[in-house]
Amino acid sequence: MTIRSIALLAMAVPFSVCADNSSAAPLAVYYSFDTPPSALLITEMQSEVGRILAAAGVRVAWRAVGSPRNGEDFQGIVVFRFRGACSFDRDPGPNRYPAKSSGQPLGATDVADGQVLPFGAVDCDRLRQFIAPLMKSLSLEERNAILGRAMARVGAHEIYHILTGSEEHARRGIARASHSRAELTAPIFAFARAETDWLRAWAAAPVPQPTVAAVGSDTIPRETEITAPESISSVAR
Ligand SMILES: [Zn+2]
Repeated sequence: MTIRSIALLAMAVPFSVCADNSSAAPLAVYYSFDTPPSALLITEMQSEVGRILAAAGVRVAWRAVGSPRNGEDFQGIVVFRFRGACSFDRDPGPNRYPAKSSGQPLGATDVADGQVLPFGAVDCDRLRQFIAPLMKSLSLEERNAILGRAMARVGAHEIYHILTGSEEHARRGIARASHSRAELTAPIFAFARAETDWLRAWAAAPVPQPTVAAVGSDTIPRETEITAPESISSVAR
C-alpha cells in the first residue's frame, strides 16, 4: 500500500456563519504533539477549531491519542499529529528564518491507494516560521495564541479533506489549497459557503469514512511515508 499526502501550502500573497446541531454526536479529534505545547496554545487551537466547525453545526470532542473510548459515540474520528515545536518559546527569531517560506506544506492528510485516510498532520515548525514575520511586535503569549489559531485553521482544512474523502480544494476560505499569513492569523477565517453547507449536511448524515480500529501512537503514519506535496498549481484539482 502506498501512502502519500495531500498538503496545504503556505501562500506568499495575502479574508462567518452559524448553525446549531448540538444534539448530534461530536466529531472526535484524537491528537498528539511531538513536543508539549502550552495550555494557552491548546486552548486557543481547540476553541478556534470549535468556532470554525460550529459554523456548520459540527461539534468537536478532543481526545489525546491513546485515551480510552469509554463507550463514547462519535459521528466521525480524525487523528492528528502536531509535528515539531508548536510554540514560540524557543523560537530563533525572524531573522534566523529562511527568506522564502512560501510554497511549503503546512499540513497534510494521508492518502492510500486513492482513499483519503483519517490521519492528518500539522507542521508546527513550518507554520511558526511562516507566520513569524507578522509576530515581531507581539509578546510571547500573544505569539503562541496566534500560532494556536493558525494551527486550528490548517487542522480544519485537513479535517475537511478527511470528512469529504476528497482531495479537491475550494476557491475560497479554509478549504482553499493555500493560506496566506494574513488568513492564518486574522481574527476571523472560515470555510466558504459551499463547504460550510457540505459540513452541515455531514453533521446531519455523516459520510462513512475508513474505520479507525484503534487510536494509538502506532496507528499514526510514519514520517517516511509522507511524500512530496502537491504544488500550489493543484488549486484547480
Ligand atoms: Zn488541501
